[in-house]
Amino acid sequence: MNSIEIKAPAKINLSLDVLRKRPDGYHDIRMLMQTVELHDNVRIEPCGNGVEVICSNPDVPSGTRNIAYKAAYLLKEFYSINSGVLIKIDKRIPVAAGLAGGSTDAAAVLKGMNILFSIGLKDDELASIGKSVGADVPYCLRGGTMLAEGIGEILTPVSSLPRIELVLVKPRLSVSTQWVYSSLNLEKIRLRPETDKLIKAFEDNNLEYIAENMVNVLETVTAQKYEVIIEIRKRLMEEGALGSMMSGSGPTVFGIFRDRQSSEKACKSILDERWDTYQTYTVTNLL
Ligand code: ATP
Repeated sequence: MNSIEIKAPAKINLSLDVLRKRPDGYHDIRMLMQTVELHDNVRIEPCGNGVEVICSNPDVPSGTRNIAYKAAYLLKEFYSINSGVLIKIDKRIPVAAGLAGGSTDAAAVLKGMNILFSIGLKDDELASIGKSVGADVPYCLRGGTMLAEGIGEILTPVSSLPRIELVLVKPRLSVSTQWVYSSLNLEKIRLRPETDKLIKAFEDNNLEYIAENMVNVLETVTAQKYEVIIEIRKRLMEEGALGSMMSGSGPTVFGIFRDRQSSEKACKSILDERWDTYQTYTVTNLL
């Protein structure tokens, strides 16, 4: 095989709860994750001896500071792969947006190199390497609808709903995940998601319940600082969304729509120079 191209999809959170701060500085979280169709394309070619990463988006570091570099480097060193790799990322997922854009590229590199060099790693072995690259990487390797616990690496599949139509709105500002977690005051959180009830709603195929009861506790930090997040949530609801919430540490806000026609209409009506809009939908199996 000369090269391989892998689709690296984004995720949204349908709920996000932070349980406690751990002694190691990380937080124990409980969140529902969902893969969406919006994706980067990651191409991997054997090339030279080292690892080289080129990204189409100038806001993303190429080279050693790209998270895809770390994934490739770890795999190459650990499994003594003789060949180097050239990784080309066609970036379509907005950056620092709460959509796991970096983690999904890293997951694509692990998967792609495993195939390209016939390393033969099983899913749990890939997940354990993934965890050392980033907390969301094990989820990105599996995708679909999952409950993620621990720091995000303990995964339990949740029954998936058929395709959900979405509008993603990304304000033109970047939010650092690290800043959001370090600014979070757990004692100030008044509203938490009822995650078990949401899981039951997935089993019952009850989209309305999910849309109306989604909670992301990180909104207490990000939406408090950036009012535009609240404004977008309101606008999406006015455009007929069944529910709307910030994804991850933000600032992307998504709206859930009953059908493609209403999401298309909302996506057009909500256009504004302060944000970028994306019409997409959920996928239950990796692309
Ligand atoms: P999460 O939802 O996991 O918190 P995010 O979507 O908020 O992630 P990313 O898009 O992964 O954030 O970007 C976070 C930072 O990582 C950015 O500042 C970016 O420069 C850097 N980065 C490194 N490699 C990548 C990559 N391959 N894709 C995107 N960002 C990358």
